[in-house]
Amino acid sequence: MLELLPPPPTDPLWDLTYEFGSDERAERLNLVLGVYRDPSGRTPVMAAVREAEIRLAERSESKEYRGLSGNAAFNRALLAMVLGPGAEADRAAAVQTVAGSGALRLLADLICRTRPGTTVWISDPAYVNHRPILEAAGLRVRTYGWCDDEGGFDSAGVLADLARAGRDDVVLLQGCCHNPTGADPSREDWAALAELAVRHGWVPFVDLAYHGLGDGLEADLWATRHLAARVPEMLIAVSCSKNFGLYSDRTGCAIVLGASDRSVRHAETALQNAARTLYSMPPEHGAAVVTTVLEDEGLTALWRAELDAMRGRIEANRSELTALLGAHGHEGPARSLARQRGMFSMLPLTSQEMLRLRREHAIYGTTAGRINIAGIPADRIPCLARGIAAVLGT
Ligand code: PLP
Repeated sequence: MLELLPPPPTDPLWDLTYEFGSDERAERLNLVLGVYRDPSGRTPVMAAVREAEIRLAERSESKEYRGLSGNAAFNRALLAMVLGPGAEADRAAAVQTVAGSGALRLLADLICRTRPGTTVWISDPAYVNHRPILEAAGLRVRTYGWCDDEGGFDSAGVLADLARAGRDDVVLLQGCCHNPTGADPSREDWAALAELAVRHGWVPFVDLAYHGLGDGLEADLWATRHLAARVPEMLIAVSCSKNFGLYSDRTGCAIVLGASDRSVRHAETALQNAARTLYSMPPEHGAAVVTTVLEDEGLTALWRAELDAMRGRIEANRSELTALLGAHGHEGPARSLARQRGMFSMLPLTSQEMLRLRREHAIYGTTAGRINIAGIPADRIPCLARGIAAVLGT
């Protein structure tokens, strides 16, 4: 049977990561994957997470099944974190998922079960897995633009594109720290997007993967909360991979907001049914860790301080790279970089130039030009700036 399988496509980001793994140059620099690294290049376990794990190990008594929605306390804690304590509580439901990707997939299944063949609009460029997840669930995908010529958010262009989305459509928006561009809408832009959603009737589907790593936790959740307060229905995919550093524990949550209690309960059951046929129930460990942190004032304060420190390091990396690119005479790219937020930035380099960066300078970003700003060890920023400047031509 397997002889019949044609060669399947491989994952472009992981292909580059494997290529990096076999690169023997001492100066090699991996800026491909979206993981936070500390100044020495490690991706540490956060202290609040470590403490929660110790407490859990000490009181662990049973690993019995948790139920179809996973860990109920986790779902409550994430609802309160994302929407604000008590906000929208009477018209929201949450189901624990296998990380942000699992939330995207379950919500895509929910859309398909509700209205097969629905069109979901995604940004161009988008997170590399948005289209594959939506299409695998049986949805149609259309795109709207995202950036202007200077690497910032293209307000007029996005509003014009999304004015073509209709009442039966869903629009996938990243709530903050847009991957791959780092270009985010302003609050005025978000307000205009919310008005457009209300006027045209499309359903916002917010993907939250980097909250806390842009302008701070509350500021990064502002857009999601603003949309939630304005629109009758909304879907939210939440990842705890980046802001709790729980990448391999696969921890996340799918949230639905509906106009009536009945529709929300139906949506919750449909999400449970979708999970049941994919993996039955999500793994407990990461959810138990997040719940332990968020239910304890001291651990929450520690986690928030660590998150702020991570954000501060990303900002410091971004400003140093901006200053060095400016000093190399590349004012345009420096200006774009300075306007962007969060873990990523898109370099104004062609795929050929990204290849040269990899071949000639051992610097690995994605072929499309994305680099992980959080992945640059403190002492390597000058060499990154020199590599980019060399490829850009000075
Ligand atoms: N959404 C966006 C925008 C992402 O960048 C990512 C991961 O990089 C995800 C969702 C999925 O994250 P995970 O499944 O690791 O939680």
